[in-house]
Amino acid sequence: MGPGKIKVRRLPLLPLRGLLVYPSMVLHLDVGREKSVKALERAMVDDSMILLCSQSEINIEEPTTEDIYRIGTIAKVRQMLKLPNGTIRVLVEGVLRAEIVDYLSNDEYYEVTAKELPEQDTTDPEIDALMRTVLNQFEHYINLSKKVTPETLAAVSDIDEPGRLADVICSHLSLKIKDKQEILETVDVRERLEKMLNILNNEREVLELERKISQRVKKQMEKTQKEYYLREQMKAIQKELGDKEGRAGEADELRSQLAEAELPEKVKEKVEKEIDRLEKMPATSAEGGIIRNYIDWLLGLPWNKETADDLDLDKAEEILNEDHFGLEKPKERVLEYLAVQKLVQKLKGPILCLVGPPGVGKTSIARSIARSLNRQFVRISLGGVRDEAEIRGHRRTYVGAMPGRIIQGMKNAGASNPVFLLDEIDKMAMDFRGDPAAALLEVLDPEQNSTFSDHFIEVPYDLSKVMFVTTANAVHNIPRPLLDRMEVLYIPGYTEIEKLQIAKKYLLPKQKRDHGLQDDQLVVDEGALMKIVREYTREAGVRNLEQQVAGINRKAAKKIVSDPSEPVHVTEDNLKDFLGPVKFKYNVAEDKDQVGAVTGLAWTEVGGDTLVIEVTVMPGTGKLTLTGKLGDVMKESAQAAFSYTRSRADVIGIPADFHEKNDIHIHIPEGAIPKDGPSAGITMATALISALTDIPVSRHVAMTGEITLRGRVLPIGGLKEKSLAAHRAGIKTVLLPQDNEKDLVDVPESVREAMTFIPVSHMDQVLEHALVRNRPGAPVGTA
Ligand code: ADP
Repeated sequence: MGPGKIKVRRLPLLPLRGLLVYPSMVLHLDVGREKSVKALERAMVDDSMILLCSQSEINIEEPTTEDIYRIGTIAKVRQMLKLPNGTIRVLVEGVLRAEIVDYLSNDEYYEVTAKELPEQDTTDPEIDALMRTVLNQFEHYINLSKKVTPETLAAVSDIDEPGRLADVICSHLSLKIKDKQEILETVDVRERLEKMLNILNNEREVLELERKISQRVKKQMEKTQKEYYLREQMKAIQKELGDKEGRAGEADELRSQLAEAELPEKVKEKVEKEIDRLEKMPATSAEGGIIRNYIDWLLGLPWNKETADDLDLDKAEEILNEDHFGLEKPKERVLEYLAVQKLVQKLKGPILCLVGPPGVGKTSIARSIARSLNRQFVRISLGGVRDEAEIRGHRRTYVGAMPGRIIQGMKNAGASNPVFLLDEIDKMAMDFRGDPAAALLEVLDPEQNSTFSDHFIEVPYDLSKVMFVTTANAVHNIPRPLLDRMEVLYIPGYTEIEKLQIAKKYLLPKQKRDHGLQDDQLVVDEGALMKIVREYTREAGVRNLEQQVAGINRKAAKKIVSDPSEPVHVTEDNLKDFLGPVKFKYNVAEDKDQVGAVTGLAWTEVGGDTLVIEVTVMPGTGKLTLTGKLGDVMKESAQAAFSYTRSRADVIGIPADFHEKNDIHIHIPEGAIPKDGPSAGITMATALISALTDIPVSRHVAMTGEITLRGRVLPIGGLKEKSLAAHRAGIKTVLLPQDNEKDLVDVPESVREAMTFIPVSHMDQVLEHALVRNRPGAPVGTA
């Protein structure tokens, strides 16, 4: 502070409301309060000087000394003008800061003694730098704030007194009085500039935030406006196209559909609710699409649409015969089944399960059942189904959710009481996504299936009027609880005679119809058909046979088209022109009796088959090697055959230490199908003994049977299929376990007559019939 005496003066005081005057500011004030007017009058009488101090609270009409800041500005009143409303407009010019020392007692107006606070003249480089920064910040501020004009900046830049600079800038900011007062009270110039800098920084940040917020709001506004506009446009377009108002028109249409559909009350309510929801959706919303899809499903399902049953057993029998050759037993069982249904008047019995190799007519029987009952027919395949959701559907919340296969099947059926074929029920798998078998159990359970729940459909669906029929290749893979609900009906494979008849009477006429050929346009000789059966197919059923016959029809159709006058005649000789070279050699039996090679009979899910087991014996150290596609059971069976051979070495006539001096290799040539099971036991033992004794095995013999360590022959399964396979392969003698003799009745008569079946109970008998003792005194003993 500069030298000189501190000056204290007596002055009238004018309290300011919501306003603050800095020194060097010139501005108009409107004065209305009586005390203030008096103070002004007093000033005018003296030297026109007055002290202007701000009130801390704007709305106090009669401030006490407490309500008035102690530091203010001494100002000179330049002009005074009485306004018509009685207030006085004055032009004041701030002169310098002053601090109230004391209030003097005066009832008419405030009068104080005030100590002058003159401005210091400080000039040093730091102040200069501060000034520049403050100016800089102020410029930023102006750029952001629209409230201060750029001209102000020009005016402010000219100020060279540092204290004044702070004051003027502060007067341009829209700050609270409290903050402005702080600047006024900061007499030290450096400090004042620093405070100013702070305030400017703060203000700038606030402004920046404001700007960001407003931009965001603006963007959002623009977006909603745009969407609104587009939506309105779309509505206009839809109107032009006569599409009523988007979803509204859709909803009306669905409601009229609902009125026509005969739905259970619960379903109806659900659909109504969903239509209401749909109506409120914007025409383009994805959710609207989902709801629409759901409504379509509910409206499309046959809830109460039943077809009238026709339970005429004679007619049913007629239809079954019309569609199928042979199959006497299954047909009879189906008719019995239908008869029971007719008696009890409802279909609550066990579920039919048709078990057999592919292509034996399982599907086709189910179809005939539907036809004879006059019901709709639907078929779903369960092969590879591993997810519960495939049976029961996905919840609607999933993207692309759909009902499960059961409900889809019902929709396809279009009636609530179809014959519903569940194909390949033994091919279902199970994994972490839940057990489809459990879901299926609910489907098949008459106690539960009247309220079947599909995750997608949500409302229970009544499956109790559906007649379920299932198929499987083998029973052992059907989940036990499912199997317990079913009545199993076996359909084994066909003999070649049967196949010939099927081809002649059913497949060929059917294919001709399908290919649009007149009966006399294509003639296929019986010899040719038999050749197809024997040399172009190798199967238990007739599926490939049908494909081959279809192949002939295609070729024939082509010929007929190019030359309609010439009927096509297929003979045994020209067959290869239609089907290409033969695919299988008929009579697989070897041309010569072999040592160490024996024909065994296997039974798999796709029917019976023959397989040749080979054994070689080489000098070695007693290793037993097994190769080919063998399962565990088969390996054990090989071990048993081996042990038996060792224990009987003396009787068979081989050295007791053969297993130490030789390596033995048992091989089962790989077929298309994996084989497992104990029924190759006697076959392996025979091959082994033949190899060790060097005695050949008759090529006309095939065998099947399990072997014990003591050489007993135990019964096996699938005798019928195995016999058919042996017959197909041109075998003349079949060795079978004694205990299976009773099953021979199942073997078709034609097959029984064509081959010799020899029941055996011990390995010795097997050797007796299989080995060709063409050398006198061959060393084979009997027990
Ligand atoms: P699966 O369901 O057992 O695999 P399919 O029912 O599909 O077998 O039968 C395959 C084809 O063979 C069908 O065209 C069927 O009509 C025909 N077929 C099967 N068995 C017979 C039969 N006994 N009589 C007439 N056609 C048959």
